[in-house]
Amino acid sequence: MNETAPAPTAPLRARAEIDLGALRANVRTLRALAPGAALMAVVKSDAYGHGAVPCARAAVGAGATWLGTATPEEALDLRARAGLPAGVRIMCWLWTPGGPWREAVEADLDMSLSDMWALREVVAAARAAGLPARVQLKADTGLGRNGCQPGDDWAELVGEALRAEAGGLLRITGLWSHFACADEPGHPSVDAQLALFREMVAYAEGQGVRPEVRHIANSPATLTRPDSHFDLVRTGIAVYGVSPIPEQGSSADFGLRPVMTLKASVALVKQVPGGHGVSYGHHYVTPGTTTLGLIPVGYADGIPRHASGTGPVLVGGKWRTVAGRVAMDQFVVDLGGDEPEPGAEAILFGPGDRGEPTAEDWAQAAGTIAYEIVTRIGTRVPRVYVNEDVPVEDEAALIDRVVPGYESDDAAQGRDGKRSGT
Ligand SMILES: *Cc1c(COP(=O)(O)O)cnc(C)c1O
Repeated sequence: MNETAPAPTAPLRARAEIDLGALRANVRTLRALAPGAALMAVVKSDAYGHGAVPCARAAVGAGATWLGTATPEEALDLRARAGLPAGVRIMCWLWTPGGPWREAVEADLDMSLSDMWALREVVAAARAAGLPARVQLKADTGLGRNGCQPGDDWAELVGEALRAEAGGLLRITGLWSHFACADEPGHPSVDAQLALFREMVAYAEGQGVRPEVRHIANSPATLTRPDSHFDLVRTGIAVYGVSPIPEQGSSADFGLRPVMTLKASVALVKQVPGGHGVSYGHHYVTPGTTTLGLIPVGYADGIPRHASGTGPVLVGGKWRTVAGRVAMDQFVVDLGGDEPEPGAEAILFGPGDRGEPTAEDWAQAAGTIAYEIVTRIGTRVPRVYVNEDVPVEDEAALIDRVVPGYESDDAAQGRDGKRSGT
């Protein structure tokens, strides 16, 4: 835990410490890497499990001017509860027919449209609200998921949106797309998608669209493809300090610091003889006399059952491994004869610089990606926010490692009375 963190007081079964200082530093690092673009912090799915409102506020405090969510409900909730400064834009992109279009228009959200049904629904809502809707047209440049196909479909969507714009019912604020393989640098689809995106943007602009923002870059593209930054980068996982391309570099290699640390209190320590089966199915049998530690979190808390027998935990300065199956609420580690006090700290994952495993280690243990590990930590685990305020110089020093000569806005404005570095 960072020294500046207030010590969480009440003893807790488990907690996810969310280091907002790390989050702010990550946002500043990403802004420095994409200096010509605005930054959207993607805070969908409760900020990848970190807590949408505190993370959105911290990201905005570090210079994010856009927030992104999947569903309109997530976006409406942020508008209602996050107390964001005026001018912060919120975009959402996963709509289904009958969605809350009118509420979204009234809450001044940017709404993504991929198809004619959505355009018709948003136009009707704008008419009913008596307000123009902000819409962003999404192109499928090769992901094969959401988005409008190039060619006739795109021509129809662009044409109809322009007619509605001319009628004062909407404003086309953005043209955008999403990558399929940006986490595999060098994958030929990245260049192909970029080329098609430029074509589809050029077509729309040729028809008269004047977007405020054109955007396609997610975290991996923001880190590896400056030619994909355009006017805005949409960073999710990198804001939370997790490497989007673990094959190419760790968080630290990209100048990022993991934001979530997952801890639990050891609930029971006991001696058992050799040959003792452990947890459902007895998939672990003690090789000799040993001690077992009970860790009071399970798959209901988001600990993957696929990490049975493989997930790592730091207890008493040593890495231990999940012994046998992860159950709904608890799992067991073989402590090899050590006898920590009940209540001792078990760290499942964190930044990794105190010897603890990382979310990436859990992803490997469970055969998944670290996105899934952090996002699935359940609501039964309280989030404890630390480092809500961190000296700007510390952040500038961290960023300076990746972007030499970088000076944060706050430092440049001399808010703390000192210029830091260059
Ligand atoms: C989730 C998401 C992002 C963020 O992706 P990361 O890889 O986490 O940066 C960006 N754009 C869209 C459309 C998304 O759904």
